Amino acid sequence: MANFSDLLLDVCRVRRDFPILDREVHGKPLVYLDNAATSQTPRQVIEVFDDYYGRYNANIHRGLHTLADEATAAFEGTRETVRAFLNAAETREIVFTRGTTEAINLVVNAWGRANLGPGDEVLVSRLEHHSNIVPWQLLARELGFTIKVIPVDERGVLDQAAYRDLFTERTRLVAVNHVSNAFGTRNPVAEMARVAHEHGARILVDGAQAAPHQTLDVRAIDADFYTFSGHKAYGPTGAGVLYGKAELLEAMPPWQGGGEMIKTVSFEAPTTFADIPHKFEAGTPAIAEVIALGRALEWVSEIGLELIGAWEGRLLEHATEGVQRIEGLRILGTAPDKVGVLSFVVDGAHAQDIGLLIDQLGVAIRTGHHCAQPLLSSFGVDATCRASFAAYNTPEEVDVFVDGLERVVAMLR
Ligand code: PLP
Repeated sequence: MANFSDLLLDVCRVRRDFPILDREVHGKPLVYLDNAATSQTPRQVIEVFDDYYGRYNANIHRGLHTLADEATAAFEGTRETVRAFLNAAETREIVFTRGTTEAINLVVNAWGRANLGPGDEVLVSRLEHHSNIVPWQLLARELGFTIKVIPVDERGVLDQAAYRDLFTERTRLVAVNHVSNAFGTRNPVAEMARVAHEHGARILVDGAQAAPHQTLDVRAIDADFYTFSGHKAYGPTGAGVLYGKAELLEAMPPWQGGGEMIKTVSFEAPTTFADIPHKFEAGTPAIAEVIALGRALEWVSEIGLELIGAWEGRLLEHATEGVQRIEGLRILGTAPDKVGVLSFVVDGAHAQDIGLLIDQLGVAIRTGHHCAQPLLSSFGVDATCRASFAAYNTPEEVDVFVDGLERVVAMLR
């Protein structure tokens, strides 16, 4: 069994912050192992909503009254929290979005429309979530650029030699995730950024699965764009982040038009736009959600990302060891550098049936294509089961999951 004793994570204390972990499902204690889809939310984050709507609910930026000032200060304070979390150089490089999907669509539509045309090439990895594939495909159909796919090997590791060979003088951008949601592979994004820049291309790193699991440094990676979602990082749904280098954001045209993103609007003269990041934040944003996202990142930093990553790594080790005793189980994604994601299929038992039956034992895992159909189809499967870990999971919960899986598989065969 993996050794947990040297890690200074007080998991009982961590769990006390999560009211939902006390609930039962089908009469059994909840074992929540679907963290890669959405992580649970600590009470410190939940309390932000009561506080905001109970004390200082007001629209931001425009008001001169006290409530508007307080809401603006809390909202803009989160921009600084996110800047520090990503180690970005300036707060104006942080754009708030609804999540990773919207952040990627912003880059595709604002940067892509201004910089891509017929004959240009965008490299997209086979490990991508659909949200880093489909927006590029939609724009490619319209503008006529080509999408080239960075292949993976049988472990789910991106082939770096093939990646280097894909570059031509028409390569404009690389789209790659920091961590794969389907397999947990951690990609060498700093090295991939170096290669992209050597060829004069930009790189967008989708950090949705990296943000809550490891220390981030967009400057060390030298990412041109970096995205993540609040709801996978102990925060609420509806708030996410696009980081972009200031000079790129400044050169990009706006994406959505509306209030807040303008300097002046006129029918007689050209409308002028606000400075970054506000140029990309049209309309009233998800104010409470953004403030709550800031609180979530503070919570994560209080525990420590290094410690969280190490803890989840041990849980993964323990689970990987445990499931080996199930005959006919095959793990997909065996990269040497992985986060706490365990994806697998079992001979004679369909993923969907496993998911439904193990839920009866109180264990929540995800089954399906994980919005990564191109990846799964290249491994000859249309669905896997996926258990994914967070700071509040325990080795005992992993045991419940493995024992439950064994029982469920026996029933299905
Ligand atoms: N990218 C990756 C790697 C993901 O895992 C996900 C969600 O699972 C997304 C993007 C999309 O995130 P959201 O649905 O929060 O926009």
